[in-house]
Amino acid sequence: MIKDLSEKALKVEKETLQFFKSLPKKRLRDLDDTIHALHEEVFDEIDCLACANCCRSLGPRLTDRDIERIAAALRLKQQEVVARYLRIDEDGDYVFQSMPCPFLCSDNYCNIYADRPRACREYPHTDRKKFYQIHALTVRNAQTCPAVFEILERLKREF
Ligand code: SF4
Ligand code: SF4
Repeated sequence: MIKDLSEKALKVEKETLQFFKSLPKKRLRDLDDTIHALHEEVFDEIDCLACANCCRSLGPRLTDRDIERIAAALRLKQQEVVARYLRIDEDGDYVFQSMPCPFLCSDNYCNIYADRPRACREYPHTDRKKFYQIHALTVRNAQTCPAVFEILERLKREF
C-alpha cells in the first residue's frame, strides 16, 4: 500500500488542487467540521502502527521545548540529545540527523512516544482548526500519509 502511495497521490494531485481552487472562499473556510469528521472516520480504519511512514520518511522540526522534554525522558543533557540525534537544516531548524527516525522501533512503536516532538503529535494536521490555511500542504502530505490520501479522496467524493 505504502509502496504505491506516492505515485497514486501524484496522479490525483492536480485534480485535488483544482478541487480546492474551485471551492468558493467561504466554503473553503468552512471545511473544518467536514475534514475533522473525515479525520476521525479514516483514523478509525487506519492503523498507524502498521504504517509508520511519517516516522520513516518525514523528519519533524524540533523546538527547544521538544529537546528539553526528550532530554529529560532519556536522562541526557540537552546538548547530548543535540549531538547524538540532531542537526540543523537549511532553514536553521533542528531535525533528526537521519531518517528513519532514531526513535522508531522495529515494531513501529515510538521509543519516546509520551515525549515525542510536537510536530509528531500534530501530524498530519487534518484535525487542526483553519484547515484552509494548510490545504496545499495537506495535498502534498497525501504522498506520504495514506490517511491523508483517503481523507482527501472522501472529501472530493462528498462534494
Ligand atoms: S519521535 Fe517518534 S513519533 Fe516522531 S518521528 Fe520519531 S518515532 Fe515517529
Ligand atoms: S503516515 Fe499517516 S497513517 Fe502512516 S503512521 Fe503516519 S500518520 Fe499514521
